[in-house]
Amino acid sequence: MNESRKAVANLVMLGPPGAGKGTQAKQWACEQGVPHVSTGAILREAVKALTPIGIEAKATLEAGNLVSDRIAISIVRERLGQPDAKLGFVLDGFPRTVRQAVALDEITKNRGPLIVLEFVVPDEEVVRRLSRRRVCGECGTNYGEGKGKLPSRCAQCGCELVLRSDDSEDIVRKRLAVYHRLTQPLVDFYEGRPTFGLIDGSQPLATVGARVMATVAKGMKGEPLRTGSSAS
Ligand code: AMP
Repeated sequence: MNESRKAVANLVMLGPPGAGKGTQAKQWACEQGVPHVSTGAILREAVKALTPIGIEAKATLEAGNLVSDRIAISIVRERLGQPDAKLGFVLDGFPRTVRQAVALDEITKNRGPLIVLEFVVPDEEVVRRLSRRRVCGECGTNYGEGKGKLPSRCAQCGCELVLRSDDSEDIVRKRLAVYHRLTQPLVDFYEGRPTFGLIDGSQPLATVGARVMATVAKGMKGEPLRTGSSAS
């Protein structure tokens, strides 16, 4: 790693499943050269690879419930401890509980500000997006943005696209219920901080990307991200 590089940002993207935070996180990470840390992706990999964590978490993931804080925190502690996360990272899907948020503060103390963006999207839009989404069974690439016809095979690796087992409508509604129940306290936890901002995730991809970029730039300059209760 190039040690002369400037610190990027310690970024957290909160939001319901299907809010587009995964797509934005991936894009941000790629443009900024920092790791995209998706706890959901790490857990799905662990399930596939039959690791001890994967074996423990499989049924929980399939039911749309959250894995234990102990597992989620240990994954993030380990990943953010790696050298490529030193100058910054983008967390996607973590924290999901106040206990995880407290642990994240502890893990990232002495690392510069934690910028937290909450993606806001109406539930019905989430259900619409996720029932359309298909993922590559092999490399995990997502398809389903916009309204056009979906391909049947992955453009990256040519493998078949499938509906993620937890993207069926009943499981999505359950994941949304879990999200709302556990996330409101999380929003309360971050709300008073100047580095907490809202992003309107129902806008087109490029608009959301531009908002993310502008909001993080503001946060890195130490400007408060919210002036009132509207999306900044
Ligand atoms: P995601 O891809 O972020 O929607 O996550 C998929 C699934 O992984 C979730 O429904 C949970 O079962 C599990 N998961 C991901 N991140 C966390 C977390 N921070 N805490 C607990 N469970 C998680």
